[in-house]
This record gives sequence, C-alpha cells and structure tokens, in this order.
Amino acid sequence: MITPLPAGSTIGIIGGGQLGRMLAMAAARLGYRTIVLEPQADCPAAQTANRQIVAAYDDAHGLAELARECAVVTYEFENVPVEAIAALAADVAVFPPARALEVAQDRLAEKTAINAMGIATARFLAVDDDTMLAAGIEGFGGNGVLKTRRLGYDGKGQRVFRNASRQDAAGVFAAMGNAPLILEAFVEFEREVSAIAARGQDGRVVAYDAAENVHRDGILHTSTVPAQVSEATLAQARNAAATILEGLDYVGVIGVEFFVLSDGALIVNEIAPRVHNSGHWTEAACMVSQFEQHIRAICGLPLGDPARHSDCVMENLIGEDVARVGDLLAESGVMVHLYGKAQARPGRKMGHFTRLGG
Ligand code: AMP
Repeated sequence: MITPLPAGSTIGIIGGGQLGRMLAMAAARLGYRTIVLEPQADCPAAQTANRQIVAAYDDAHGLAELARECAVVTYEFENVPVEAIAALAADVAVFPPARALEVAQDRLAEKTAINAMGIATARFLAVDDDTMLAAGIEGFGGNGVLKTRRLGYDGKGQRVFRNASRQDAAGVFAAMGNAPLILEAFVEFEREVSAIAARGQDGRVVAYDAAENVHRDGILHTSTVPAQVSEATLAQARNAAATILEGLDYVGVIGVEFFVLSDGALIVNEIAPRVHNSGHWTEAACMVSQFEQHIRAICGLPLGDPARHSDCVMENLIGEDVARVGDLLAESGVMVHLYGKAQARPGRKMGHFTRLGG
C-alpha cells in the first residue's frame, strides 16, 4: 500500500533552474511546499519555491537540512553527485533512485544498461587515448561521434568524424580534455523524437506521445506533437520508455531521446532522469503536465492521464529570442513561460512558448 504524501508536506528539489521552478509551481498547485537546494541565490526555482537552501549540491550541512525539512527529495538535473543522493537516501525518500542518476551520468554506463534491457543504441566503445580512438574510427568505417562520457549536455564536449582515417585521431584525446570518452557509430537518422514517461511508486507507468525535436546549435529549438512517425514507432517509444523505467525501478518522470531510422525503427540516444525540455508542451496541451506527473509520482499520488487535448509546437526562447514575448502574448492559443532569469546571454534558455493547433 502506498500512502500518499499529505497536502502541506514539503518536497526538496536539488537544483535551481527552470525545471525546478516548474516543479515547484506544480507542487504548489497540489498543496505542497518546496525547498530548493542550489548554490546560486535567487535562482529561477527559488523564485517559485517556499524557501531556498543556498549550498553546493554536495554540501553535507545543506543536504542534512534538506533531509530534516522534507518528506521527499527529488532533483532537476542529472549532474548532482551520486554519492550525495545515495547518502541522502539513508535519511529521506529520494526519487528517482540513485541508480538512475548513476546510469544517466556516464554515457558508457547508460548505453550498456540500455542494451542490457534489450533496447538498441548506436554501437559504441570506450576511448581512453588516441590509439583506442584510431581503432574505433576504423572499426566504424570512418564515421562516428566522439563524446565525453560525463558532464556533456546540449551537444557540448563532442566531435563528429565523417570519412575520417586513423590519422585523424592524433591529439584528439588531449584536445578533448584528457577525460574518458565514448565513440559512437554515426547514426544516419531521419528525425529525432523523445518520449516523456512516468512511473509511480505502485509501478504503474504512463507515457505521453513522443514529440519530434529539432535542435539548433546543439540546443533544443522546437518540440512538435504529433511527431511525423507511424503508430508503430510511437508504440515502440512508449514501450522502450516503460522498459527503461521498470529496469531502473524508477519513480518519477524520465525523458528518453531517440533517433528514428528510415524504416521507422528507434534507437535510444540518451535518457534524462528528470523532467525534460522536450516535455514542456505537456503544460499547455495536457490536463496533467510532466511537472505535475513527476510530483504525483514522487508523492505517491495516482498518476494522471497523459492524453493531450491539442496538437502543438513548443519553442524555446534562447538569449535575445525573449524579445519576442510581447508579440507572442498578443496571439491567442499561445502559452508563454519565462524563467525569471535577469540576463539574456547567448545560448541561455530564457523561456519557452507552446502554440496549440496544427
Ligand atoms: P547528445 O548530446 O548525445 O544528445 O547529442 C547531441 C546531438 O548530436 C543529437 O541530438 C544528435 O543530433 C547528434 N548526435 C548525437 N549522437 C549521434 C550519433 N551517434 N550519430 C549521429 N548524430 C548524433
């Protein structure tokens, strides 16, 4: 029997970005209080939470305070130290589990775990020096994507090889920072989609329809629903997400990014153990958004219906794009969401909007 967390209880959120902000808003609507742990004061999440603990993500005092004050703790980004989450879990319920974080933090562990669940990824191999890279480039026919195993996001820490030869490996390991790398075979995909799904404490899984994602300069630009894929591909995305959730004994929302091949088959690119940018459309086009779904899951409430009432396109407002807000607000059928960030630096996610219809 799962006992739902009573309204008025406090949820801890590690990480103070826009995802934490939207989680705190969803929590408030269900009657919960929130405390954000984040080193940067007045961060986007702190503006909508009840309180902020200003501390590093691995600060023992800050984490102990969070454990004392909260009935459940979650996180909004995947680079929280696993040791911090594992230690915290001894004192307070933490969802998603540390194992999910551990897998998602290292691209090698991630692909290995996903393959072990019977789900396809790009072929890959670990690269720890130029010689291993040279062999890998050759083995993958001269084409591949080299990535740092850890701490990469939005396409950062990556290098693409096309029609390359062994010689092209010279000096690359040092140029990539002498950090452990993974070489992936280059996937000739037709499109990119992602599935947002949730698993409750009772093991029930719900999945939103996959969105089709377009990136610009390595950053998500738009997510469109429905994706231009067959029902069979949508079902494959739902099933893969469910298998991963069950395989990780997961509680909460997960984002699973896929490449769609020309025959409609899917292979997983990566997973995010948290709410995901490509799921922001659910806030405007579904009765229960990914943020509310996550709060429901971690609080032991019944999961909500993932059906959408409208087709839609979500677009990120990056840097100076935020100047478009005035025009967007004048449109009907558009939901605008700003993150409360003071400075619009290039490449910085300032907000997003979702336009219904299509
Ligand atoms: P990632 O950081 O893994 O999400 O990669 C960023 C982007 O690079 C993806 O959204 C793809 O567009 C592209 N990409 C990543 N891995 C591969 C691959 N193995 N083959 C082809 N394109 C890739």
